[in-house]
Amino acid sequence: MLEYEVVKSGSSGNCVVIENIMIDCGIAYTQIREYLYGVDYLIITHIHGDHLKDTTYKKIRKFFPNITTISNWQVSQKLNGDVDVVIDWGESETVGEYTFESFEAIHDVVNSGYVFSIEKEGEQYEIIYCTDSRDFSNAPDKEYDYMFLESNHDENIINAIKNPRKKYGYDVVKNAGRHCSTQKCLGFYYMHRKHEDSELIELHKSERFYTGGN
Ligand SMILES: [Zn+2]
Ligand SMILES: [Zn+2]
Repeated sequence: MLEYEVVKSGSSGNCVVIENIMIDCGIAYTQIREYLYGVDYLIITHIHGDHLKDTTYKKIRKFFPNITTISNWQVSQKLNGDVDVVIDWGESETVGEYTFESFEAIHDVVNSGYVFSIEKEGEQYEIIYCTDSRDFSNAPDKEYDYMFLESNHDENIINAIKNPRKKYGYDVVKNAGRHCSTQKCLGFYYMHRKHEDSELIELHKSERFYTGGN
């Protein structure tokens, strides 16, 4: 069994820790500081503020210089090149004890999903992490033990909204199109689980439009 913790997930901030890997730092430094002592790698998925808080990143670099940071070219550009390992979509890179494979997560900025495996107590676990993506059509067609996947909204609720601008003040339907529905999330899970105990960790749930598929 792997140890993981969803420190925060959603449009108000994201940070997940899986063993010694942290993914995203879109929350205040004080909220993640305690986890950093056990972290060796920090992956940033994309530049949006709920995933990358600049001040938090700067503090991590200052106080935990031993942590290797990994991301895509756009995140690196935003951080003035201060990212240790840049992995392009479709590429794999071995960093320390892990090999991280990056793929395109379909969003409105350069966003990366990641696949990697963790060996622990003689077992090998396959992990996929993908959030803020319209769907998972670019994800490697493998079988996974742990799937950290966006499950943002219920398609039925979104599809039933008429005049979204009038009702919500902005186009929630268009916005939902940049995020993955629970239906697609569950579909991917059932198609790609290695066994019946494969774990699904739903990420980036909408406060208003997530129902858990019920
Ligand atoms: Zn987000
Ligand atoms: Zn985003």
